[in-house]
Amino acid sequence: MNIDILQGKTTEHLVLLEGTKCFIHNLMLTDFLRLQKDALKEGFDLKIISAFRDYDRQLKIWNLKASGERPLLDDQERPLEFSKLSPIEIIMAILRWSALPGSSRHHWGSDIDVYDAKTQKEDEVKLVPSETMNHGPAARLHEWLDLKISSDSSYGFYRPYATDRGGVSPERWHLSYYPISRRYLESYTFSLFKKNIEESDLILKETVLENADEIFRRFFLNVDVP
Ligand SMILES: [Zn+2]
Repeated sequence: MNIDILQGKTTEHLVLLEGTKCFIHNLMLTDFLRLQKDALKEGFDLKIISAFRDYDRQLKIWNLKASGERPLLDDQERPLEFSKLSPIEIIMAILRWSALPGSSRHHWGSDIDVYDAKTQKEDEVKLVPSETMNHGPAARLHEWLDLKISSDSSYGFYRPYATDRGGVSPERWHLSYYPISRRYLESYTFSLFKKNIEESDLILKETVLENADEIFRRFFLNVDVP
């Protein structure tokens, strides 16, 4: 196992999805294209809005949020008042929606955020729960996906953030390719997680390290399985 793949520090495992700017795991390409084709037959234009994200990009996202330059949202998608939060409250608020650099599943190429390009333009997609439920623009796509991927495991896709387990917020738009991501999750040790944080240029690093064990269990290991 190449540790750099687990932490978003290489692109050797990726291929560019034709006609897009998205890089995905090369072993996932065939099954993703099949899912996309089957969605099209049902009238959905299943597109990826976010696939592989490298370490530096994730670090930038973290530091913008940890410094208050990018808004933090509560569970109801409302902005939190940054100046009133303690360091640990800021960290926990970020982790509901964003991973620490080095331990994002988006580093793996096996995990993607999807939308229905029939009902939303790419620049309109916000990736919030309301888009995927009730009468949201991606709701019907996700209802179809629920049936499709749970009844036919040969696609390989499932939802690691389907339910609220007290860690990462439910993210219906996030799909994971289990044959790959299961192996990566199993290979990712706590010592690797901790060492990565120690070596990073993370804002609020000291508080993250003090709480590393809880963060690893609650926000990284704590995902749904198929
Ligand atoms: Zn995602």
